[in-house]
Amino acid sequence: MSRRRANPLAETAPKPFQKICEAPGCRLHGEFRAPLARDRLTEYRWFCLEHVREYNKKWDYFAGLDADAIEQHIRADTTWRRPVWPLGGRRSGGPHLHDPLGLADDAGLGEKPPPKMDGSEQLTPAERDAMQVLELSWPLTRAEVKSRYKELVKLHHPDANGGARSAEEKFKEINAAYSTLRASENIRTV
Ligand SMILES: [Zn+2]
Repeated sequence: MSRRRANPLAETAPKPFQKICEAPGCRLHGEFRAPLARDRLTEYRWFCLEHVREYNKKWDYFAGLDADAIEQHIRADTTWRRPVWPLGGRRSGGPHLHDPLGLADDAGLGEKPPPKMDGSEQLTPAERDAMQVLELSWPLTRAEVKSRYKELVKLHHPDANGGARSAEEKFKEINAAYSTLRASENIRTV
C-alpha cells in the first residue's frame, strides 16, 4: 500500500476562519469588512482592500440624513464600540504651529497682524484649527459647516475605510472640529 501524498488543494484552500472576498470572481482574502446597512452595523460583508473601497464608494452610509442626525448617529455608535473622544475640540498631535488663515504671512511680520474686521478676528484658535480640519475658509455660515462636515464624514468614516486606523483618527478630528464650530457664536446662523 502506498502512502498518500498530501492533497495540494488542501494547502491553497482557505482555512475555515479565513474569509474570501465577496466580490464576484475575486479570490483574495476578505480581510476588510463593510457593514450591510446603517441599522445593521454588526453584520458585515467581507472584501479585499480593492473591493472594500469599491463597495464603500457605491454605498452612501449617510444617505438621507442631515448633519445633526449624522453626528448623533456617530456618537451613539462610537460610544459603545470605541472610546469616546473628548468634546470641545481637543486634537491629537501636540501643539499647532499652523496659521490656518495665513495671517502671519500676509503681514510679513513675526508679530500678530492687525485683525481684519470681518468677524474672523473674533475666532478662537480652536475655531481656526477646526476650520482648517474641515477645509473651510472665512466668511462662514452654519449651513456651510454642516454640509462640509457631512461630506468629510462620508469620506472618512472608519466603516467606509475597512476600519483603517488612520481613517479613524481623521474621523475623530473631523468630529471634534464640527463640535467646535457648531458651538461657535462667531459663525453666521444662515
Ligand atoms: Zn476582492
